[in-house]
Amino acid sequence: MPDPAADLPFFHGSISRAEAEDVLKLEGMADGLFLLRQCLRSLGGYVLSVVYEVQLHHYPVERQMNGTYAIAGGKSHCGPAELCEYYSKDADGLVCTLRKPCLRLPGTTPKPGVFDSLRENMLREYVRHTWNLEGEAMEQAIISQAPQLEKLIATTAHEKMPWYHGKIKRTEGERRLYSGVQPDGKFLVRDRDEMGTFALSMMYGKTAYHYQIIQDKSGRYSMPEGTKFDTIWQLVEYLKLKPDGLVYTLREPCVSPNSSMCAIAPAPPSGRKTGPGSNGYTPPPKPPAGQQRPLPMDTSVYESPYSDPEELKEKKLFLKREQLMIDEVELGSGNFGCVKKGVYKMRKKQIDVAIKVLKSENEKGVKDEMMKEAGIMHQLDNPYIVRMIGMCQAESLMLVMEMAPGGPLNKYLSSKKEQITVENVVELMHQVSLGMVYLEQKNFVHRDLAARNVLLVNQHYAKISDFGLSKALGADDNYYKARTAGKWPLKWYAPECINFHKFSSKSDVWSYGITMWEAFTYGQKPYKKMKGPEVISFIEAGNRMDSPAACPEVMYNVMKDCWIYKHEERPSFVVVEEQVRNYHYSISKKPAAEAQPEKTVEV
Ligand code: AMP
Repeated sequence: MPDPAADLPFFHGSISRAEAEDVLKLEGMADGLFLLRQCLRSLGGYVLSVVYEVQLHHYPVERQMNGTYAIAGGKSHCGPAELCEYYSKDADGLVCTLRKPCLRLPGTTPKPGVFDSLRENMLREYVRHTWNLEGEAMEQAIISQAPQLEKLIATTAHEKMPWYHGKIKRTEGERRLYSGVQPDGKFLVRDRDEMGTFALSMMYGKTAYHYQIIQDKSGRYSMPEGTKFDTIWQLVEYLKLKPDGLVYTLREPCVSPNSSMCAIAPAPPSGRKTGPGSNGYTPPPKPPAGQQRPLPMDTSVYESPYSDPEELKEKKLFLKREQLMIDEVELGSGNFGCVKKGVYKMRKKQIDVAIKVLKSENEKGVKDEMMKEAGIMHQLDNPYIVRMIGMCQAESLMLVMEMAPGGPLNKYLSSKKEQITVENVVELMHQVSLGMVYLEQKNFVHRDLAARNVLLVNQHYAKISDFGLSKALGADDNYYKARTAGKWPLKWYAPECINFHKFSSKSDVWSYGITMWEAFTYGQKPYKKMKGPEVISFIEAGNRMDSPAACPEVMYNVMKDCWIYKHEERPSFVVVEEQVRNYHYSISKKPAAEAQPEKTVEV
């Protein structure tokens, strides 16, 4: 994710206050000369450094809960560029207006911050080790969960640092510092006790010094009386620049024997999920319950049940009846019969499953439909699509799928309206768009995308289901032509589906727009009481549904794009996914510091 200030010529990146002062002095220290730099303390924040009467003034710019930016006590702006433009016209509390940008040297890019250069690697390492994900599943985890993962990583990243030694005694810390060479500034961080407090031990003049790392009520870390940071690793990075009360600046890390940094960690087994610890790596402890919400990757259905090659060996389309236990509990029903809960015993594990049981085998048409659905599902393997485990021919024909216990999205949202935030709805709709990008890329059309066919694994994890109407397109085709109109969900269908029976990923995009509308209305029925034919004339007359009350403007704009009349002009899922993702990230990527806005002006 690029820094939103990356393109601003006066953004200097991660430079220290002293470096900023040098740059501004070189430019002549005229009143109103200014630059923007990355805040070293709060993730995602900036510092605006302004010259006035040969003095420097530094204003922290916080990134707020809703993704906007503001100087403490000042107005909010949608980005750092807008904020600077605003203060160039109106001082509004600053010492003066911003008059002259202090530009970076031509041809240079902003200096990357510690987290900028670590983020990508850390995200990958974290996902790889904590969930043993690889390949496509890892990439999808990163795309859909980046803001949450970044927060997790930011607050637990120190556990992955070579200088972090975990819970060791002070004497053991000393022993480790004294072993090998002992340059000044050699340091380590250790847990002091069970209470989650930390200590910093460092060498100086062949002597070990120990400092307690202070944590204030809001959870920020500092040296006694020193600058406060959101995370331990930011504090460490800062102490590499400034002693901030220590006898010396931190230099070389004393590497922990248990260090799990990329280079030291054992390589994880490729492409499979084998459970924590199976590769010799122990994932960092999870924050206490309540502080962290479950991520899709925490569920057993994030990765394919067959991602373990051992299980794959035995994978067959038809499952043995004795490996299937069917519960009496019914999860739902459809034309074909009912969906029951069950358990499928695999070679190494048991998984919860949903079993579509065919009502009567005599109805050949229905059986064919179920076989077609199975044929489609068999070819799909994506974390945001309900996976088929197999078919089973026993007392009746059964389609066995992985379980999504939360049930259909529309019902879930209407029953839990009070608990579910708009951000949560955006997150789920982003996951649906990821599943649809996968289908688009595989050249499949769903033809029945609707909130009733999005099932929830949990409140934060959605999967697309019901492939009863789906079609695989030929390699050279980009649409499917239905010979006859069947029992079609007209309210979800694009004009070309109704008028010309033409179905493509672009008509799925239209349905995605309707699904979004259902989601942001928390499960209402689209087009109120209108009947199918009335909806058709409503659309043909150029009308579209109004924005749901709770729907953010950006999301309504995406919906309207999905309802562009001509399919050639409608965005593809690749475009839709990016738009929803950007919005999702902008509202959920809240640095830890924002919970406690910084009051001080000087940094
Ligand atoms: P369908 O005909 O595929 O729409 O399934 C009918 C109903 O069965 C759905 O609305 C769900 O309530 C339930 N159902 C279907 N598949 C699953 C699944 N994989 N996990 C949980 N519930 C399911």
